[in-house]
Amino acid sequence: METTVAWDLSDLFDGPDDPRIEATLVRTRERADAFARDYQGKIDSPDLTAKRLASAIREYEQLWSEGGKPGMYARLRFSADNSDPARGALMARVQEETTRLSLPLVFYRLELARVADEILTPLLDDPLLIPYRYYIHTLRLERPHQLSEIEETLLSRFSDTGSSAFVRLSGEIRAATRFHPALPDGTVPELNLSQNGALYSSPDREVRKAAAEAFAVGAKANLKTLTFILNTLLQDKAVSDEIRHYEIPEATGFERDELPGATVELVTGITAEHYPLAARYYALKKQQLGYETLKDYDLSAPLSQTVEEISFESAQEIVLDSFGSFSPEMRELAAEFFDKHWIDAAPRPGKQGGAYCNGGTPDSHAYVFLNYLGKMPHVMTLAHELGHGVHGSLSRGQTYFNMYGTLPMAEVASTFGEMLVFDRLQTGACDETKLALLGDKIEGAIGTIMSTTGRYRLEKIIHRQRRSEGEMTSDQISDHWQGEMAALYGDSVEITDRLRLAWSYIPHFVNSPFYSYPYTFGELFALALYQKSKDEGPSFAEKYLNLLRAGGKDSPHVLARLVDVDLNDPDFWRGGFQVVESLIDSFEALAQAAKRG
Ligand SMILES: [Zn+2]
Repeated sequence: METTVAWDLSDLFDGPDDPRIEATLVRTRERADAFARDYQGKIDSPDLTAKRLASAIREYEQLWSEGGKPGMYARLRFSADNSDPARGALMARVQEETTRLSLPLVFYRLELARVADEILTPLLDDPLLIPYRYYIHTLRLERPHQLSEIEETLLSRFSDTGSSAFVRLSGEIRAATRFHPALPDGTVPELNLSQNGALYSSPDREVRKAAAEAFAVGAKANLKTLTFILNTLLQDKAVSDEIRHYEIPEATGFERDELPGATVELVTGITAEHYPLAARYYALKKQQLGYETLKDYDLSAPLSQTVEEISFESAQEIVLDSFGSFSPEMRELAAEFFDKHWIDAAPRPGKQGGAYCNGGTPDSHAYVFLNYLGKMPHVMTLAHELGHGVHGSLSRGQTYFNMYGTLPMAEVASTFGEMLVFDRLQTGACDETKLALLGDKIEGAIGTIMSTTGRYRLEKIIHRQRRSEGEMTSDQISDHWQGEMAALYGDSVEITDRLRLAWSYIPHFVNSPFYSYPYTFGELFALALYQKSKDEGPSFAEKYLNLLRAGGKDSPHVLARLVDVDLNDPDFWRGGFQVVESLIDSFEALAQAAKRG
């Protein structure tokens, strides 16, 4: 059941030919030049005053907040139709302009990082700078790890032909790999990674098996090269960490996310303690599917053949009602997206796949992008993106730099929004749909909370082993990865080469090390908050909205206090797994009832 709902971008510009686009680009360029004239050499200066620093930061915020509008407009339009060359051209043009714009502004971050503590620290008590304390603090975190300007310049120039080149090469190899599953209908199509991956959710087990075998063949062909690239980048990070004085491999991630290592270890440790929940669920799924053994290519097998259709209008009602039963304000904020046409929901030829929420800025509201096809998962996607949207609306009271938090906090509002809608959907659904809904939710939680912890643990092992023992073989890495996956699934799943070799096609191991635990953190945080909201009742909603209003104005630890959470309290995190466990209980009860009935 499709929809024609499309967004109206006229709050940004009237159209691609609106003269205000060009005017904004010109004005922003002039502002950037003026900014450099006014402040270069005056931030890293013994004469720095609170007033001057505050006015520099505010001007810099304004410059990006306003100057970013053409970029936002161009990206939104392009995602709505990738096939239109004019949209692509506008986007490229705006991107080039932004790069040109940022060159004269490089000094700002450098100077702000460099200015001496004796000069800066006393200024931070000035009321003008108090709102920017955390922002300044994060900008200065890298300072003890920065090298001299000559060294930094040399490193960044060589990175294009060194580490960055290896990252790009591995991406190109993965993108160019073709898989040839021998399908039960006798055909052998040529597929890319995501097309082949889509076959794992086929209801036909033979199709899933063929996809797994095809993946193993394709992955093996590139294994030697991808292993060499990973080894090289592990060593590159070892050298970089040594000269920048990072003591452990994961320290760069902790710094990026503003999370103390002890918190990450606590969260991933508690997650690993709860791995048996995954084994319990997959044992139930195996029974439900009626298999002797569950192979790794059955992990995403669908649990239901019935396809319930939900119109976009009904989805709107479901989402608004579920948000509203938690907080009337949340309902109102979400309703604005429908009423004011901030959602592009209609699938159209040329439209990019997937879904996202462009969170907006303090000056412009968010937009939601999705491809609504009228099934349960699309209702959940709507809830997810509107969770982000409401977060965007509430955090617009912050300044530009204080609006967005670090990665670990980014998925909290969306996951929480999904849980509200999930509860609602379940109440009205028939048993078969309910079972499928529960299965999706549980598998989602296992994927985003537990297997991300497995990825984190693998990275900790391989970074250390590369440092202590030198280059690893593909088999050594596959053994470590298989060990992590076996720890997660226990004896509920039989691991084949499809899962054993999967690490070689996970891009973040090479291009953004230690990128997965923020997902463990964010999703578990949202589930634990959901548990807390059930425990505390209606008084929780206002605290939760205050958390969203705070945007990214402080570190996760400080923000969590707004909802009375101590991130070092293990019981809070265990609350998140209580939610998962009760979902599995319901799944088990339904599965048994179905067997009896
Ligand atoms: Zn999201």
